[in-house]
Amino acid sequence: MRSVDEHLARVLQVIGPLPALELGLMDAHGCVLTEDVVAPAPLPGFDNSAMDGYAVRSEDIVEVPMRLPVVGDIAAGPASPLRVQPGLCVRIMTGAMMPAGADAVVPVEWTDGGVAQVRIDRRPEPGAHVRRSGEDVRAGDVVLTAGSYLGASQIGLAAAVGRSRLLVRPRPRVVVVSTGSELVEPGEQVGPGMIQDSNSPALTASAIEAGAIAYRVGIVPDDPRRLADTLEDQLVRADILVTSGGVSVGAYDVVKEVLSRLGTVSFDKVAMQPGMPQGFGTIGPDSTPVFGLPGNPVSALVSFEAFVRPAIRTMLGALPIERPRVSAVADVALDSAPGKRSFLRVQLEVREGAYRVRPVSGAGSHLLAGMARANALAVVPEDVTRVEAGQPVEVLVLERRGR
Ligand code: AMP
Ligand code: MG
Repeated sequence: MRSVDEHLARVLQVIGPLPALELGLMDAHGCVLTEDVVAPAPLPGFDNSAMDGYAVRSEDIVEVPMRLPVVGDIAAGPASPLRVQPGLCVRIMTGAMMPAGADAVVPVEWTDGGVAQVRIDRRPEPGAHVRRSGEDVRAGDVVLTAGSYLGASQIGLAAAVGRSRLLVRPRPRVVVVSTGSELVEPGEQVGPGMIQDSNSPALTASAIEAGAIAYRVGIVPDDPRRLADTLEDQLVRADILVTSGGVSVGAYDVVKEVLSRLGTVSFDKVAMQPGMPQGFGTIGPDSTPVFGLPGNPVSALVSFEAFVRPAIRTMLGALPIERPRVSAVADVALDSAPGKRSFLRVQLEVREGAYRVRPVSGAGSHLLAGMARANALAVVPEDVTRVEAGQPVEVLVLERRGR
């Protein structure tokens, strides 16, 4: 039997970051940048008002209250030709370009809000409430460096410096196939002995949560020809293929039969609970990585967390490649199989300033409802069979989020 770490090392040996690609700004969201982004111009691009108020010459306001004639309005938008002459002022809105002659903005809250004439109740310092050109970013600054993760604020910054396209590592395309002659599409009639396919929806969603573009192909029956044809058809759009089911020692375990034939895929017992049988290797002309995950729904999801998620994150060039880990205190004793790494479905919460976990499911790898109640997996090492109540245990945090 192989350890989880050995199997993951084998997976990561054949997987590397995808080659960089230029993508549109929104497609680059969630990707890793592979270029430095340089600001061609300063931010702000021009001196502008930080407040709604009145653009004034601060030296004109020698005592307060003071009344000044208002010679016009400037809103945010195309530059205005207005100029502030001595003893006059201009009504100005937030983001509007400062008019020539003015050096400060008196916020409307410091005035009577007048339109033709305004009463100013407080003296502004020179430069007050003016956002200076270049105070955020100077022309020529590197605002985002290669290797940065592009979250919402980084996407905003790229847009602010005028980029509509970015060079990034693209999202890997993950094709998900369920195998089993007992499977029907969710929502369709289930005859006797039949079940709804829950693995392809769950694994597709997992791939999206990990940052991939995922294609759910759905169900292929336990028929070697149909499976081989489907996989060969799907290869053109796959950076990773994921199948579920058909990898144990049953008589109709066709995934094992077909994948062994199509490439260098091997099937191994991995010392983990759940998820023992694991297929991995490459198939097709581009040596596409393929994961043959076990069919039991919890085994499939835990195997995804252990092996497929790190592979997707590696292709994205994103670090860290695993879920966040925290150390938590077990509320009750946790039992674990000897010689195997156990991934126990738990509820993680913070109580009295400390992480605490309690199990929310039995160990059966078909108990999907228990998996759905879990927000974390407690990871009990191979050489530990019991974590006593009050003892620490390492926990993988399953954040639930879209992309
Ligand atoms: P297998 O690995 O094909 O022997 O399947 C192991 C168990 O998982 C069996 O009880 C299957 O019915 C179940 N199973 C396999 N594939 C799926 C699936 N896509 N959705 C739900 N259960 C499945
Ligand atoms: Mg099966």
